[in-house]
Amino acid sequence: MSFTLHGLAVSHGIAIGHAHLVSHALIEVEHYVLPGRYVDEEIARFGQAVAEVQGELDALMAGADANAPSELTAFIDLHHMLLADPMLIESTRELIRARRCNAEWALVQQMEQLVEQFEQIEDEYLRERKADVVQVVERVLKVLMGHPGHPPRHGKGEHLIVVAHDLSPADTLQFKQLKIGGFVTDLGGATSHTAIVARSLAIPAVVGLHHARHLIREDDMLVIDGTRGVLIVDPDARVLEEYRLRKSALELERAKLKRLKKSRAATLDGVDIELTANIELPGDIPQVKAVDAAGIGLFRTEFLFLNRDGMPDEEEQFEAYRSVAAAMEGRPVVIRTLDIGADKNLRGVERLETNPALGQRAIRYCLAEPQVFLTQLRAMLRASHHGRIRLLVPMLAHAHEIEQTLALVEQAKAQLRARGQAFDEGIEIGGMVEIPAAALALGVFLQKLDFLSIGTNDLIQYTLAIDRTDEAVAHLYDPLHPAVLRLIAHTIQAGARAGLPVAVCGEMAGDPKLTRLLLGMGLRQFSMHPAQILEVKQEVLRSDLAQLRRKVTRLLNCDEPAKLRQQLERLNAI
Ligand code: PEP
Ligand code: MG
Repeated sequence: MSFTLHGLAVSHGIAIGHAHLVSHALIEVEHYVLPGRYVDEEIARFGQAVAEVQGELDALMAGADANAPSELTAFIDLHHMLLADPMLIESTRELIRARRCNAEWALVQQMEQLVEQFEQIEDEYLRERKADVVQVVERVLKVLMGHPGHPPRHGKGEHLIVVAHDLSPADTLQFKQLKIGGFVTDLGGATSHTAIVARSLAIPAVVGLHHARHLIREDDMLVIDGTRGVLIVDPDARVLEEYRLRKSALELERAKLKRLKKSRAATLDGVDIELTANIELPGDIPQVKAVDAAGIGLFRTEFLFLNRDGMPDEEEQFEAYRSVAAAMEGRPVVIRTLDIGADKNLRGVERLETNPALGQRAIRYCLAEPQVFLTQLRAMLRASHHGRIRLLVPMLAHAHEIEQTLALVEQAKAQLRARGQAFDEGIEIGGMVEIPAAALALGVFLQKLDFLSIGTNDLIQYTLAIDRTDEAVAHLYDPLHPAVLRLIAHTIQAGARAGLPVAVCGEMAGDPKLTRLLLGMGLRQFSMHPAQILEVKQEVLRSDLAQLRRKVTRLLNCDEPAKLRQQLERLNAI
Protein backbone atom coordinates (compact mmCIF):
# COMPACT_ATOMS: atom_id res chain seq x y z
CA MET A 1 0.00 0.00 0.00
CA SER A 2 1.35 3.40 -0.96
CA PHE A 3 1.78 6.11 1.69
CA THR A 4 3.71 9.34 2.15
CA LEU A 5 5.78 10.65 5.07
CA HIS A 6 6.81 14.25 5.57
CA GLY A 7 10.06 15.32 7.18
CA LEU A 8 12.79 17.91 6.83
CA ALA A 9 14.37 18.48 3.45
CA VAL A 10 18.11 18.35 4.04
CA SER A 11 19.71 17.37 0.77
CA HIS A 12 18.14 18.18 -2.57
CA GLY A 13 17.38 15.91 -5.46
CA ILE A 14 15.30 12.84 -6.09
CA ALA A 15 16.25 9.26 -5.30
CA ILE A 16 14.29 6.21 -6.37
CA GLY A 17 15.22 2.79 -5.03
CA HIS A 18 14.69 -0.05 -2.60
CA ALA A 19 14.71 0.37 1.17
CA HIS A 20 17.63 -0.91 3.15
CA LEU A 21 17.05 -0.83 6.91
CA VAL A 22 20.13 -0.17 8.97
CA SER A 23 20.95 0.05 12.62
CA HIS A 24 22.36 3.12 14.24
CA ALA A 25 26.10 3.32 14.79
CA LEU A 26 26.92 -0.15 13.55
CA ILE A 27 26.36 0.46 9.95
CA GLU A 28 29.51 -1.41 9.11
CA VAL A 29 27.94 -4.80 9.79
CA GLU A 30 26.49 -6.32 6.69
CA HIS A 31 22.72 -6.35 6.28
CA TYR A 32 21.08 -8.90 4.04
CA VAL A 33 18.00 -11.05 3.75
CA LEU A 34 18.71 -14.77 3.67
CA PRO A 35 17.08 -17.17 1.27
CA GLY A 36 14.73 -19.36 3.40
CA ARG A 37 16.87 -22.49 3.06
CA TYR A 38 19.82 -20.86 4.87
CA VAL A 39 17.95 -19.75 7.98
CA ASP A 40 18.71 -22.83 10.12
CA GLU A 41 22.35 -22.66 9.14
CA GLU A 42 22.46 -18.98 10.16
CA ILE A 43 20.92 -19.69 13.55
CA ALA A 44 23.54 -22.39 14.10
CA ARG A 45 26.31 -19.95 13.08
CA PHE A 46 24.99 -17.47 15.63
CA GLY A 47 24.85 -20.18 18.33
CA GLN A 48 28.45 -21.14 17.63
CA ALA A 49 29.60 -17.55 17.91
CA VAL A 50 27.88 -17.13 21.28
CA ALA A 51 29.45 -20.38 22.51
CA GLU A 52 32.86 -19.22 21.34
CA VAL A 53 32.54 -15.95 23.30
CA GLN A 54 31.41 -17.89 26.37
CA GLY A 55 34.58 -19.94 25.99
CA GLU A 56 36.67 -16.75 25.74
CA LEU A 57 35.11 -15.46 28.98
CA ASP A 58 35.76 -18.78 30.73
CA ALA A 59 39.39 -18.62 29.66
CA LEU A 60 39.64 -15.05 30.97
CA MET A 61 38.21 -16.12 34.30
CA ALA A 62 40.54 -19.10 34.52
CA GLY A 63 43.51 -16.86 33.70
CA ALA A 64 42.64 -14.29 36.38
CA ASP A 65 44.86 -14.82 39.40
CA ALA A 66 43.64 -14.76 42.95
CA ASN A 67 44.60 -11.08 43.33
CA ALA A 68 42.64 -9.96 40.30
CA PRO A 69 40.42 -7.00 41.13
CA SER A 70 36.86 -7.94 42.00
CA GLU A 71 35.66 -5.67 39.15
CA LEU A 72 37.21 -8.07 36.65
CA THR A 73 35.36 -11.14 37.85
CA ALA A 74 32.15 -9.14 38.27
CA PHE A 75 32.42 -7.95 34.71
CA ILE A 76 33.01 -11.48 33.39
CA ASP A 77 29.99 -12.72 35.34
CA LEU A 78 27.85 -9.92 33.97
CA HIS A 79 28.90 -10.64 30.41
CA HIS A 80 28.15 -14.33 30.93
CA MET A 81 24.70 -13.40 32.19
CA LEU A 82 24.05 -11.22 29.19
CA LEU A 83 25.08 -14.03 26.86
CA ALA A 84 22.41 -16.19 28.45
CA ASP A 85 19.77 -13.49 28.46
CA PRO A 86 16.81 -14.46 26.29
CA MET A 87 16.14 -10.76 25.50
CA LEU A 88 19.43 -10.66 23.67
CA ILE A 89 20.04 -14.19 22.47
CA GLU A 90 16.63 -15.80 22.01
CA SER A 91 15.17 -12.67 20.44
CA THR A 92 18.06 -12.51 17.98
CA ARG A 93 17.34 -16.10 16.94
CA GLU A 94 13.68 -15.23 16.50
CA LEU A 95 14.58 -12.25 14.36
CA ILE A 96 16.79 -14.36 12.11
CA ARG A 97 13.93 -16.83 11.71
CA ALA A 98 11.07 -14.35 11.30
CA ARG A 99 12.74 -11.67 9.13
CA ARG A 100 15.50 -13.82 7.64
CA CYS A 101 18.12 -11.20 8.65
CA ASN A 102 21.74 -12.27 8.74
CA ALA A 103 22.97 -12.94 12.29
CA GLU A 104 25.09 -9.76 12.64
CA TRP A 105 22.24 -7.52 11.61
CA ALA A 106 19.69 -9.32 13.82
CA LEU A 107 22.01 -9.07 16.81
CA VAL A 108 22.63 -5.35 16.33
CA GLN A 109 18.91 -4.65 16.06
CA GLN A 110 18.30 -6.57 19.27
CA MET A 111 21.13 -4.74 20.97
CA GLU A 112 19.61 -1.40 20.01
CA GLN A 113 16.27 -2.33 21.53
CA LEU A 114 17.98 -3.34 24.74
CA VAL A 115 20.12 -0.21 24.82
CA GLU A 116 17.02 1.89 24.34
CA GLN A 117 15.40 0.16 27.31
CA PHE A 118 18.51 0.72 29.43
CA GLU A 119 18.43 4.39 28.55
CA GLN A 120 14.99 4.71 30.17
CA ILE A 121 16.27 3.40 33.52
CA GLU A 122 16.41 6.01 36.28
CA ASP A 123 19.19 4.40 38.26
CA GLU A 124 22.47 5.70 36.87
CA TYR A 125 24.48 2.57 37.67
CA LEU A 126 22.02 0.31 35.89
CA ARG A 127 21.69 2.76 33.01
CA GLU A 128 25.43 2.61 32.50
CA ARG A 129 25.24 -1.16 32.05
CA LYS A 130 24.17 -0.55 28.48
CA ALA A 131 27.89 -0.23 27.73
CA ASP A 132 28.26 -3.87 28.80
CA VAL A 133 25.52 -4.92 26.40
CA VAL A 134 27.37 -3.16 23.59
CA GLN A 135 30.68 -4.77 24.58
CA VAL A 136 29.21 -8.26 24.66
CA VAL A 137 27.57 -7.72 21.29
CA GLU A 138 30.84 -6.45 19.85
CA ARG A 139 32.59 -9.61 21.03
CA VAL A 140 29.99 -11.82 19.34
CA LEU A 141 30.11 -9.68 16.19
CA LYS A 142 33.88 -10.07 16.02
CA VAL A 143 33.52 -13.84 16.05
CA LEU A 144 30.67 -13.78 13.54
CA MET A 145 32.61 -11.56 11.19
CA GLY A 146 35.54 -13.96 11.34
CA HIS A 147 33.15 -16.65 10.09
CA PRO A 148 31.06 -14.86 7.50
CA GLY A 149 27.78 -16.32 6.32
CA HIS A 150 26.23 -16.02 2.88
CA PRO A 151 27.05 -12.83 1.03
CA PRO A 152 24.43 -10.18 0.27
CA ARG A 153 22.60 -10.28 -2.99
CA HIS A 154 24.38 -8.55 -5.81
CA GLY A 155 23.26 -5.89 -8.21
CA LYS A 156 21.19 -3.84 -5.75
CA GLY A 157 23.90 -1.58 -4.38
CA GLU A 158 23.37 1.28 -6.76
CA HIS A 159 19.83 2.09 -5.78
CA LEU A 160 19.74 1.35 -2.10
CA ILE A 161 18.00 3.89 0.07
CA VAL A 162 19.16 3.71 3.65
CA VAL A 163 16.40 3.88 6.27
CA ALA A 164 17.55 4.42 9.84
CA HIS A 165 16.19 5.63 13.14
CA ASP A 166 19.19 7.92 13.49
CA LEU A 167 22.61 8.24 11.92
CA SER A 168 25.66 9.84 13.42
CA PRO A 169 27.92 12.02 11.23
CA ALA A 170 30.43 9.16 11.49
CA ASP A 171 27.90 6.69 10.03
CA THR A 172 27.05 9.07 7.21
CA LEU A 173 30.70 9.53 6.43
CA GLN A 174 30.91 5.84 5.58
CA PHE A 175 28.41 6.41 2.77
CA LYS A 176 31.32 8.04 0.96
CA GLN A 177 32.67 4.57 0.29
CA LEU A 178 29.32 2.95 -0.48
CA LYS A 179 26.96 3.46 -3.36
CA ILE A 180 23.92 4.84 -1.62
CA GLY A 181 21.05 6.42 -3.56
CA GLY A 182 19.77 8.44 -0.61
CA PHE A 183 18.80 8.14 3.02
CA VAL A 184 16.02 8.90 5.45
CA THR A 185 16.01 9.00 9.24
CA ASP A 186 13.44 9.35 12.01
CA LEU A 187 15.55 11.83 13.98
CA GLY A 188 17.83 14.72 13.04
CA GLY A 189 17.75 18.39 12.15
CA ALA A 190 18.44 20.09 8.83
CA THR A 191 21.83 21.47 9.84
CA SER A 192 22.98 18.54 11.96
CA HIS A 193 26.38 17.30 10.85
CA THR A 194 24.65 14.18 9.51
CA ALA A 195 22.65 16.38 7.15
CA ILE A 196 25.72 18.39 6.21
CA VAL A 197 27.60 15.25 5.22
CA ALA A 198 24.59 14.16 3.12
CA ARG A 199 24.68 17.46 1.26
CA SER A 200 28.39 17.16 0.72
CA LEU A 201 27.78 13.76 -0.84
CA ALA A 202 25.06 15.32 -2.98
CA ILE A 203 22.70 12.47 -2.13
CA PRO A 204 19.03 13.22 -1.52
CA ALA A 205 17.99 12.88 2.11
CA VAL A 206 15.04 13.56 4.38
CA VAL A 207 15.35 13.54 8.18
CA GLY A 208 12.94 13.96 11.09
CA LEU A 209 10.40 11.46 9.68
CA HIS A 210 9.58 10.10 13.18
CA HIS A 211 8.35 6.59 12.32
CA ALA A 212 9.96 5.67 9.01
CA ARG A 213 12.12 2.93 10.51
CA HIS A 214 9.03 1.14 11.90
CA LEU A 215 6.74 1.66 8.93
CA ILE A 216 9.12 0.70 6.15
CA ARG A 217 10.17 -2.87 5.43
CA GLU A 218 13.33 -4.09 3.80
CA ASP A 219 13.14 -3.85 0.04
CA ASP A 220 10.08 -1.55 -0.09
CA MET A 221 10.14 0.71 -3.13
CA LEU A 222 10.86 4.31 -2.06
CA VAL A 223 10.98 7.74 -3.63
CA ILE A 224 12.84 10.49 -1.77
CA ASP A 225 12.02 14.03 -2.74
CA GLY A 226 14.91 15.71 -0.96
CA THR A 227 13.83 19.19 -2.01
CA ARG A 228 10.34 19.00 -0.50
CA GLY A 229 11.23 16.73 2.42
CA VAL A 230 8.85 14.00 1.26
CA LEU A 231 9.21 10.22 1.27
CA ILE A 232 6.82 8.11 -0.77
CA VAL A 233 6.65 4.45 0.17
CA ASP A 234 5.51 1.92 -2.43
CA PRO A 235 4.49 4.56 -5.01
CA ASP A 236 1.97 3.62 -7.69
CA ALA A 237 3.08 3.45 -11.32
CA ARG A 238 1.87 6.96 -12.17
CA VAL A 239 3.71 8.63 -9.27
CA LEU A 240 6.82 6.64 -10.00
CA GLU A 241 6.78 7.75 -13.62
CA GLU A 242 6.32 11.39 -12.63
CA TYR A 243 9.30 11.22 -10.27
CA ARG A 244 11.44 9.50 -12.90
CA LEU A 245 10.71 12.42 -15.23
CA ARG A 246 11.48 14.99 -12.50
CA LYS A 247 14.71 13.20 -11.68
CA SER A 248 15.84 13.36 -15.31
CA ALA A 249 14.89 17.05 -15.50
CA LEU A 250 16.97 17.77 -12.40
CA GLU A 251 19.92 15.87 -13.80
CA LEU A 252 19.65 17.90 -16.97
CA GLU A 253 19.68 21.15 -14.98
CA ARG A 254 22.75 20.00 -13.06
CA ALA A 255 24.49 19.13 -16.31
CA LYS A 256 23.75 22.63 -17.66
CA LEU A 257 25.23 24.22 -14.55
CA LYS A 258 28.53 22.53 -15.33
CA ARG A 259 29.00 25.07 -18.11
CA LEU A 260 29.62 27.68 -15.41
CA LYS A 261 32.63 25.83 -14.05
CA LYS A 262 35.20 28.08 -15.71
CA SER A 263 33.23 31.36 -15.60
CA ARG A 264 34.65 34.07 -13.41
CA ALA A 265 32.51 34.42 -10.25
CA ALA A 266 31.68 38.13 -10.53
CA THR A 267 28.52 40.17 -10.15
CA LEU A 268 26.90 42.07 -13.03
CA ASP A 269 28.69 45.21 -11.83
CA GLY A 270 32.03 43.40 -11.97
CA VAL A 271 32.81 42.63 -8.31
CA ASP A 272 34.68 39.38 -7.81
CA ILE A 273 33.16 36.97 -5.30
CA GLU A 274 35.21 34.17 -3.78
CA LEU A 275 33.41 30.81 -3.82
CA THR A 276 35.32 28.20 -1.85
CA ALA A 277 34.51 24.67 -0.76
CA ASN A 278 33.85 22.97 2.57
CA ILE A 279 35.39 19.51 2.90
CA GLU A 280 35.49 16.79 5.51
CA LEU A 281 38.30 14.60 4.22
CA PRO A 282 41.15 14.77 1.67
CA GLY A 283 39.08 12.34 -0.42
CA ASP A 284 36.64 15.19 -1.14
CA ILE A 285 39.16 17.04 -3.31
CA PRO A 286 37.97 15.57 -6.66
CA GLN A 287 34.53 17.14 -6.03
CA VAL A 288 36.22 20.47 -5.30
CA LYS A 289 38.19 20.25 -8.54
CA ALA A 290 35.11 19.24 -10.51
CA VAL A 291 33.59 22.69 -9.85
CA ASP A 292 36.90 24.58 -9.91
CA ALA A 293 36.40 26.09 -6.42
CA ALA A 294 38.60 29.10 -5.60
CA GLY A 295 40.03 27.23 -2.61
CA ILE A 296 38.99 25.40 0.53
CA GLY A 297 37.13 27.71 2.90
CA LEU A 298 36.55 25.10 5.60
CA PHE A 299 38.29 21.78 6.16
CA ARG A 300 36.40 20.15 9.07
CA THR A 301 39.36 18.17 10.40
CA GLU A 302 37.43 16.34 13.10
CA PHE A 303 36.23 13.86 10.49
CA LEU A 304 39.78 12.48 10.39
CA PHE A 305 39.24 11.54 14.05
CA LEU A 306 35.93 9.70 13.66
CA ASN A 307 35.26 6.03 12.87
CA ARG A 308 38.50 4.84 14.43
CA ASP A 309 40.04 3.76 17.68
CA GLY A 310 42.58 6.30 18.92
CA MET A 311 43.53 9.58 17.33
CA PRO A 312 45.57 10.17 14.19
CA ASP A 313 49.16 11.04 15.17
CA GLU A 314 51.08 14.11 13.97
CA GLU A 315 52.47 12.34 10.88
CA GLU A 316 49.09 11.09 9.74
CA GLN A 317 47.50 14.51 10.23
CA PHE A 318 50.40 16.25 8.53
CA GLU A 319 50.02 13.99 5.50
CA ALA A 320 46.27 14.70 5.32
CA TYR A 321 46.73 18.49 5.53
CA ARG A 322 49.75 18.50 3.22
CA SER A 323 47.91 16.45 0.59
CA VAL A 324 44.98 18.89 0.58
CA ALA A 325 47.27 21.93 0.36
CA ALA A 326 49.30 20.34 -2.44
CA ALA A 327 46.20 19.26 -4.37
CA MET A 328 44.88 22.83 -4.28
CA GLU A 329 48.04 24.02 -6.07
CA GLY A 330 48.50 27.38 -4.41
CA ARG A 331 44.85 28.18 -3.85
CA PRO A 332 44.02 29.05 -0.23
CA VAL A 333 43.11 26.27 2.18
CA VAL A 334 41.45 27.13 5.49
CA ILE A 335 41.95 24.28 7.95
CA ARG A 336 39.80 24.33 11.03
CA THR A 337 41.17 23.02 14.31
CA LEU A 338 39.38 20.11 15.91
CA ASP A 339 35.65 20.72 16.46
CA ILE A 340 34.88 17.59 18.42
CA GLY A 341 31.97 17.24 20.85
CA ALA A 342 28.19 17.82 20.56
CA ASP A 343 27.12 15.48 17.75
CA LYS A 344 30.70 14.47 16.77
CA ASN A 345 32.34 12.26 19.34
CA LEU A 346 35.57 10.33 19.42
CA ARG A 347 34.98 6.59 19.57
CA GLY A 348 34.72 5.33 23.13
CA VAL A 349 34.67 8.77 24.76
CA GLU A 350 30.99 9.70 24.45
CA ARG A 351 30.52 12.06 27.35
CA LEU A 352 27.28 12.05 29.27
CA GLU A 353 26.68 15.78 29.17
CA THR A 354 23.21 17.11 29.69
CA ASN A 355 23.63 19.71 26.95
CA PRO A 356 26.47 18.55 24.72
CA ALA A 357 26.12 21.48 22.30
CA LEU A 358 26.80 23.78 25.24
CA GLY A 359 29.51 21.60 26.70
CA GLN A 360 33.17 20.96 26.11
CA ARG A 361 33.12 21.25 22.37
CA ALA A 362 35.64 22.53 19.78
CA ILE A 363 38.18 25.03 21.14
CA ARG A 364 36.97 24.33 24.68
CA TYR A 365 37.99 20.70 24.26
CA CYS A 366 41.31 21.64 22.61
CA LEU A 367 42.28 24.04 25.39
CA ALA A 368 41.41 21.38 27.96
CA GLU A 369 43.58 18.83 26.07
CA PRO A 370 46.64 20.90 25.07
CA GLN A 371 48.68 17.88 23.95
CA VAL A 372 46.00 16.86 21.44
CA PHE A 373 45.78 20.48 20.28
CA LEU A 374 49.55 20.96 20.00
CA THR A 375 49.85 17.77 17.94
CA GLN A 376 47.27 19.09 15.52
CA LEU A 377 48.80 22.56 15.40
CA ARG A 378 52.25 21.15 14.61
CA ALA A 379 50.79 19.02 11.81
CA MET A 380 48.97 22.03 10.35
CA LEU A 381 51.98 24.30 10.64
CA ARG A 382 54.25 21.77 8.94
CA ALA A 383 51.70 21.41 6.14
CA SER A 384 51.75 25.21 5.71
CA HIS A 385 55.21 24.81 4.18
CA HIS A 386 53.58 22.95 1.28
CA GLY A 387 50.74 25.27 0.31
CA ARG A 388 48.69 28.33 1.24
CA ILE A 389 47.27 27.26 4.56
CA ARG A 390 45.34 29.38 7.05
CA LEU A 391 44.16 28.18 10.47
CA LEU A 392 40.61 28.63 11.67
CA VAL A 393 39.51 28.22 15.28
CA PRO A 394 35.89 27.22 16.06
CA MET A 395 33.54 28.23 18.91
CA LEU A 396 35.48 31.18 20.26
CA ALA A 397 33.63 33.46 22.66
CA HIS A 398 36.15 34.79 25.17
CA ALA A 399 39.21 36.99 24.81
CA HIS A 400 41.20 34.55 26.95
CA GLU A 401 40.34 31.68 24.58
CA ILE A 402 41.85 33.67 21.72
CA GLU A 403 44.90 34.52 23.80
CA GLN A 404 45.45 30.92 24.92
CA THR A 405 45.01 29.65 21.38
CA LEU A 406 47.56 32.10 20.01
CA ALA A 407 49.97 31.17 22.81
CA LEU A 408 49.62 27.48 21.92
CA VAL A 409 50.24 28.27 18.25
CA GLU A 410 53.44 30.05 19.32
CA GLN A 411 54.39 27.02 21.44
CA ALA A 412 53.82 24.66 18.50
CA LYS A 413 55.95 26.94 16.30
CA ALA A 414 58.75 26.93 18.89
CA GLN A 415 58.63 23.11 19.02
CA LEU A 416 58.99 22.94 15.24
CA ARG A 417 61.86 25.45 15.25
CA ALA A 418 63.61 23.32 17.87
CA ARG A 419 63.19 20.31 15.60
CA GLY A 420 64.38 22.29 12.60
CA GLN A 421 61.11 21.75 10.71
CA ALA A 422 59.86 24.35 8.26
CA PHE A 423 56.50 26.13 8.37
CA ASP A 424 54.96 29.37 7.20
CA GLU A 425 56.11 31.90 9.84
CA GLY A 426 53.39 34.35 8.82
CA ILE A 427 50.54 31.84 8.84
CA GLU A 428 47.20 33.59 9.31
CA ILE A 429 44.93 32.64 12.18
CA GLY A 430 41.20 33.23 11.94
CA GLY A 431 38.27 32.77 14.27
CA MET A 432 34.81 31.45 13.70
CA VAL A 433 31.96 33.69 14.70
CA GLU A 434 29.31 31.19 15.69
CA ILE A 435 28.33 32.24 19.18
CA PRO A 436 26.23 35.42 19.51
CA ALA A 437 28.59 36.71 22.20
CA ALA A 438 31.39 36.71 19.62
CA ALA A 439 29.32 38.59 17.06
CA LEU A 440 28.28 41.19 19.63
CA ALA A 441 31.73 41.77 21.08
CA LEU A 442 34.00 41.52 18.06
CA GLY A 443 36.65 43.95 19.28
CA VAL A 444 39.18 41.43 20.46
CA PHE A 445 38.55 39.22 17.40
CA LEU A 446 39.31 42.16 15.14
CA GLN A 447 42.44 43.10 17.06
CA LYS A 448 44.03 39.70 17.48
CA LEU A 449 42.96 37.65 14.48
CA ASP A 450 43.68 37.83 10.77
CA PHE A 451 40.28 36.86 9.38
CA LEU A 452 36.78 35.80 10.44
CA SER A 453 34.46 33.08 9.23
CA ILE A 454 30.80 33.10 10.24
CA GLY A 455 29.49 29.66 11.15
CA THR A 456 25.81 30.29 10.60
CA ASN A 457 24.78 26.74 11.56
CA ASP A 458 25.88 27.26 15.12
CA LEU A 459 25.17 30.98 15.16
CA ILE A 460 21.50 30.15 14.50
CA GLN A 461 21.55 27.30 17.02
CA TYR A 462 22.95 29.47 19.77
CA THR A 463 21.03 32.65 18.95
CA LEU A 464 17.67 30.93 18.87
CA ALA A 465 18.46 28.29 21.51
CA ILE A 466 17.59 25.49 19.07
CA ASP A 467 19.47 22.20 19.18
CA ARG A 468 20.37 21.79 15.52
CA THR A 469 20.14 17.99 15.76
CA ASP A 470 16.70 17.87 17.36
CA GLU A 471 13.83 17.46 14.92
CA ALA A 472 11.30 18.39 17.62
CA VAL A 473 12.45 22.02 17.49
CA ALA A 474 13.55 22.05 13.86
CA HIS A 475 10.59 24.24 12.86
CA LEU A 476 12.07 26.99 15.06
CA TYR A 477 15.46 26.85 13.34
CA ASP A 478 15.22 29.96 11.18
CA PRO A 479 18.12 31.48 9.24
CA LEU A 480 15.86 34.43 8.44
CA HIS A 481 15.15 35.39 12.03
CA PRO A 482 15.89 39.14 12.21
CA ALA A 483 18.27 38.57 15.15
CA VAL A 484 20.32 36.11 13.11
CA LEU A 485 20.43 38.37 10.06
CA ARG A 486 21.50 41.36 12.11
CA LEU A 487 24.32 39.43 13.79
CA ILE A 488 25.60 38.29 10.40
CA ALA A 489 25.33 41.74 8.83
CA HIS A 490 26.98 43.35 11.84
CA THR A 491 29.92 40.92 11.67
CA ILE A 492 30.42 41.46 7.94
CA GLN A 493 30.32 45.23 8.33
CA ALA A 494 32.57 45.32 11.39
CA GLY A 495 35.11 43.17 9.54
CA ALA A 496 35.00 45.47 6.51
CA ARG A 497 35.55 48.55 8.69
CA ALA A 498 38.55 46.94 10.38
CA GLY A 499 39.94 45.69 7.06
CA LEU A 500 39.59 42.05 8.07
CA PRO A 501 38.32 39.51 5.53
CA VAL A 502 35.02 37.88 6.56
CA ALA A 503 33.59 34.68 5.07
CA VAL A 504 30.42 32.73 5.72
CA CYS A 505 31.05 28.99 5.88
CA GLY A 506 27.76 27.74 7.37
CA GLU A 507 24.98 26.21 5.28
CA MET A 508 23.49 29.64 4.51
CA ALA A 509 26.43 30.29 2.18
CA GLY A 510 25.40 27.36 -0.02
CA ASP A 511 21.71 28.24 -0.26
CA PRO A 512 21.14 30.04 -3.58
CA LYS A 513 17.98 31.64 -2.18
CA LEU A 514 20.19 33.53 0.29
CA THR A 515 23.03 34.48 -2.06
CA ARG A 516 21.68 37.92 -2.90
CA LEU A 517 20.80 38.66 0.69
CA LEU A 518 24.38 37.91 1.78
CA LEU A 519 25.85 39.84 -1.15
CA GLY A 520 23.70 42.83 -0.20
CA MET A 521 25.05 42.64 3.37
CA GLY A 522 28.53 43.05 1.90
CA LEU A 523 29.71 39.42 1.91
CA ARG A 524 32.42 38.66 -0.65
CA GLN A 525 33.60 35.21 0.48
CA PHE A 526 31.26 32.24 0.54
CA SER A 527 32.28 28.71 1.52
CA MET A 528 29.98 25.74 0.96
CA HIS A 529 29.93 22.08 0.04
CA PRO A 530 31.20 21.77 -3.50
CA ALA A 531 27.89 20.41 -4.83
CA GLN A 532 26.36 23.90 -4.30
CA ILE A 533 29.08 26.07 -5.81
CA LEU A 534 27.81 26.28 -9.38
CA GLU A 535 24.25 27.03 -8.32
CA VAL A 536 25.47 29.87 -6.09
CA LYS A 537 27.74 31.09 -8.88
CA GLN A 538 24.72 31.30 -11.15
CA GLU A 539 23.08 33.62 -8.61
CA VAL A 540 26.22 35.73 -8.29
CA LEU A 541 26.38 36.15 -12.07
CA ARG A 542 22.80 37.46 -12.10
CA SER A 543 23.23 39.92 -9.22
CA ASP A 544 23.86 43.64 -9.26
CA LEU A 545 25.42 44.79 -5.99
CA ALA A 546 24.45 48.42 -6.34
CA GLN A 547 20.78 47.43 -6.50
CA LEU A 548 21.01 44.90 -3.72
CA ARG A 549 22.59 47.09 -1.04
CA ARG A 550 19.64 49.45 -0.55
CA LYS A 551 17.07 46.69 -0.60
CA VAL A 552 18.97 44.56 1.89
CA THR A 553 19.37 47.49 4.28
CA ARG A 554 15.58 47.84 4.26
CA LEU A 555 15.10 44.10 4.75
CA LEU A 556 17.40 44.12 7.76
CA ASN A 557 15.22 46.71 9.45
CA CYS A 558 12.15 44.54 9.08
CA ASP A 559 10.89 42.75 12.21
CA GLU A 560 7.89 41.00 10.73
CA PRO A 561 8.75 37.53 9.44
CA ALA A 562 6.09 37.49 6.72
CA LYS A 563 7.16 40.89 5.34
CA LEU A 564 10.81 39.94 5.55
CA ARG A 565 10.15 36.83 3.49
CA GLN A 566 8.21 38.87 0.94
CA GLN A 567 11.12 41.27 0.65
CA LEU A 568 13.50 38.36 0.16
CA GLU A 569 11.31 36.98 -2.62
CA ARG A 570 11.35 40.38 -4.31
CA LEU A 571 15.11 40.58 -3.91
CA ASN A 572 15.48 37.23 -5.64
CA ALA A 573 13.09 38.22 -8.42
CA ILE A 574 14.93 41.35 -9.66
C1 PEP B 1 28.81 26.37 11.37
O1 PEP B 1 28.55 26.23 12.57
O2 PEP B 1 28.14 27.07 10.59
C2 PEP B 1 29.97 25.68 10.78
C3 PEP B 1 30.39 25.94 9.57
O3 PEP B 1 30.56 24.72 11.53
P1 PEP B 1 29.90 23.28 11.78
O4 PEP B 1 28.70 23.15 10.89
O5 PEP B 1 30.93 22.26 11.47
O6 PEP B 1 29.54 23.33 13.23
MG1 MG C 1 30.00 25.31 13.83
